[in-house]
This record gives sequence, C-alpha cells and structure tokens, in this order.
Amino acid sequence: MQTTVTTYKNILGGTQKESASKDFFEKYNPADKTELLGKFPKSNQKDLDEAVGEAKKAFEVWRYTPAPKRAEVLYRAAQITLDEKEELAQILTKEAGKPIAEARGEIQEVIDTYLFFAGEGRRIYGLTGQSELQNKSIITIRQPIGICGLISAWNFPSAVPSWKIAPALISGNVVILKPSKDAPMSGYKLVENLYKAGLPKGCASVLFGSGEFGDLIVRHPDIKVISITGSTEVGKMVYETCGRMLKKCALELGGKNAIIALEDANQDLLLEGVLWGAFGTAGQRCTSTSRLIIQRSSWTDSFLEKLVSTAEKLIVGNGLNEKTQVGPLITASHRDTVHGFTERAKKEGGKVLCGGRVLTGSEHDKGNFYEPTIITDIKPNMELACSEVFGPVLAVIPVNNFEEAINVANNVEYGLSLSIYTKDINLAMQAADKFESGIVYINAPTIGAECGGAAAFGGWKNTGNGTREGGVMALDTYTQYKTIYIDYSNKLQRAQID
Ligand code: NAD
Repeated sequence: MQTTVTTYKNILGGTQKESASKDFFEKYNPADKTELLGKFPKSNQKDLDEAVGEAKKAFEVWRYTPAPKRAEVLYRAAQITLDEKEELAQILTKEAGKPIAEARGEIQEVIDTYLFFAGEGRRIYGLTGQSELQNKSIITIRQPIGICGLISAWNFPSAVPSWKIAPALISGNVVILKPSKDAPMSGYKLVENLYKAGLPKGCASVLFGSGEFGDLIVRHPDIKVISITGSTEVGKMVYETCGRMLKKCALELGGKNAIIALEDANQDLLLEGVLWGAFGTAGQRCTSTSRLIIQRSSWTDSFLEKLVSTAEKLIVGNGLNEKTQVGPLITASHRDTVHGFTERAKKEGGKVLCGGRVLTGSEHDKGNFYEPTIITDIKPNMELACSEVFGPVLAVIPVNNFEEAINVANNVEYGLSLSIYTKDINLAMQAADKFESGIVYINAPTIGAECGGAAAFGGWKNTGNGTREGGVMALDTYTQYKTIYIDYSNKLQRAQID
C-alpha cells in the first residue's frame, strides 16, 4: 500500500511558505530506510532574505514587549509541549532513531528549558555600581541584539534548538532556525508550537536546508548572532566567517568524553554509568562516554567481563519499540565511519571485547544498526583514544594511578564532559579541579546535562569558544550590555580619566 508522503514548507515569519527554489530533500527513518518521513524544502538566499525582512519588522515590536509578557509565550509553549509530549517524542524517535524513552526525556528537556527561561523574563538582571563622583549612579542593563541565526545538529533536534530559541526570545531577539537536514521535523514542530503559544508573527522562522544554506545564514549581514551546535570541523569554518564579520558567535561542538574509574569506585554504579554513558543514544551524544580510563586493580578483569556481558545483552533495534535500548546510527554512511574507527583500532593493537560489527538480519537489515562495541588495550595516543567517534564504541584505557588517569583524560583536543568514580572526596575534588572540561561529573556518567539556573552547558578547548547554553549564562550570547550614567549633582564634575 502506497502511503502519502508529507511535503513540508518552511515557516517563514509565521506563515507556511514554499521555498523559492521549488527543490526538496528527502528524510528517511534511520531504523527503517524504506520509510520516507517527509520532503523538505531546500531553502535559498531569496527565502532567507524574506525571513530576515519579516524578522526585522518583528524585532521592533518584540524588543519593546515587556520581558514578563514575552515569558507568557514560553509558559504557554511549555504547556503545549507537555500536552503533545507523546506525539513529539514519536516524531523525534522516527527521525533521529533514539529509543522512545530517551525521546520523551528530550521533550521534557524542552519543557524545562521553556519554563526556566520564562522565569528569567522576571529577572534578566543587570548590575548597579558605585560611581567615583558624588550624586551619580551607574546602571548596566542587558539589551537584545537583533536577529539570531540558530543552526543545530541532528542528535538533539528538539532540546538543542530550544536551548537557543528560549534565551534568544526571552531577551527580546527574533530567531531564524535551521535544523539539521538529518532531523528536520522536530525543529519545525518547535516553531509551529511557539506560534500556537501566541508568538507574534515574524519573531521566529524555520528554514530547512543543508550546510550550504547554513553558510548563507552565517554570512547574512543583518543576522547579528550565530549560535551553532555541530562538529568542530564545521564550527571552525563558522567561527572564521563570524570573526571576519565581527559577528557574535556561540559554538557548541564535538567531544571526547571520559569516565575515570579509580580502584575504590563503587562497581555497581560504575557499571550502570559506563553502560548508559557509552551506549545511550547509540553513543551519538556530544557528551557520550567514549573512553573508560580504568585504574589497574584486582577487579579490573572481572569488571570488564561483567560490562561486556551486560553490553552484549542490550536490545538494539527500532526506537519505537519500548524494549529497545540502543537505536540506529543516523545514516548508513555514518555507520560506515563508525565501523572504520573500530577496524583501525584493531590494526593499532586494540582488543575487541565485544561488538565491532554492522548488525544484520531481520529488522537490522532495514536500518543503520551497529553492535555496542568495547575495545580494550587502547593506548592514550591511538586514534580511538583521541578522535570523536559519535557511535556506540567504548575505548578502554588501562592506567596505573590517579595522576596518569588525569593526564590521559586531558590528552584530547576536546573539553566537554569528564567524570570520575571514586569514594575518596579528596581525589574527586582534585579531579574536578584538574579536568580540562566545561562539565564535570562525580560518580555519575558524562551524560545527563540540565538547562536551569547554575547548570551551564558547554565545553572547553575545541568543544567551543567559551559561550554557554542553559543556565543564566546563556543570556550572554543573546544580550549586549549598555551602561547608563545618571548625574543628579546638577554641577559640572569630571572623573579623573574620561
Ligand atoms: P555537523 O557539523 O555536520 O552539522 C551541524 C549543523 O551545521 C547542521 O545543521 C549543518 O547543516 C550545519 N552546517 C554544516 N556546514 C555548515 C557551514 N559551512 N555553515 C553553516 N552551517 C553548517 O554536525 P552533526 O552531524 O549534525 O552533529 C554531530 C556533531 O555535533 C558532533 O560532533 C557532536 O559532538 C556535535 N554536538 C555538539 C553538541 C554540544 O552542545 N557541544 C551537542 C550536540 C551535538
């Protein structure tokens, strides 16, 4: 039976609109390559110029809408997202492949993000300070910047755009979102729901397209802020362009995260942490645990045996099945890339403890499935110890002591999420101090970031450029400071240095 395939339009300034290109790309389900999920417009410069025109008009109204009023849109969007949680989770699982329980968790993250930043609508604090002169006040306020170009990766197609949209809108900016073409539907639903929640026309657009179209967004002179989540390779190109244009740019890029397991670690906790850190979302999180740096001890071998036997029992399949624990890789070519890492690690001397193969047979023939893979005897300078794999492959790196473990953990270009399992509070805190990463976990895996309050999300080194998503720090990307001096002395007075 032939099913009808939805042909999507862009949401341009609040209205559905075909692309001027009249051209489309197709999106298939990674768990079932015969299922065409939709056709999406290949946007071009004309579409972008039109969206920018709408955004400019909307900005002049939205920026002067009181922030607590702007917050009401986010509160309503949170409620709508909650009402549609199951439907949105199913869409997410179909397009990104992650197990449905994880997809529900991601939609909850959208709700939490909206609620947190709606709360910020009652704050968006500035600073007041002391003047060097009499009868003079100084206040520094945050103001919006303008049109924000938001470019996202495919692996968190709902949560990551919401981390960008919510702080941008609450601060009074307007946004143009370009979701990844590997997971376009969730971004579409986000923007659609913001309009259902009463967002004024023009404040948000979603335009579909590839990296080439992303580049047009980055280069557009009227788009004043770029926030991109993606690979380090792409981030470097984007940063270069923004640098030349002196454009504000937030980068959230790749990771090579590690758990350090010291000899006094709670082994039950460690097992769970490594398992879900490494194989949750089939290892396709920027925070996935891709290295286990384990201190050689009396229990190392028995622990690895237990880890392997548990990993071998993980149910790999279509994420819509409630029993599935590990979903597919996003594309066949990405699965081949992941397999390439495994093959090269073997050649370099790595010992495969489990997995290492493309999964075939029955439902696995339909999608891009790969076995949860554990490879030991990895040395700190091997490719598998240093490069981001973005798949269900765990490198086990045995070390002799705490100092060596810290050095190995830091011996990568990335700096997103590092973790240590130990009962020794001194070593735990020393690790937290020495880790070269934006996020540190103690006795928890490298995954599971939150968006609220003090929980800023982002990386060091080649994972980013110091900006943060989530938490109040996210406002730094989407606001600029203005300092206002008020002189009520009614006489001529000058500071020593003007
Ligand atoms: P990607 O770099 O291929 O693409 C990311 C986005 O950038 C896509 O929307 C893409 O179309 C766009 N793009 C590509 N080239 C561009 C260009 N020249 N100019 C402008 N835009 C361009 O990444 P991906 O495969 O979608 O996602 C996986 C990567 O994202 C991994 O490296 C992962 O670690 C990283 N990631 C990082 C975080 C984080 O917060 N640090 C979160 C999720 C994913």
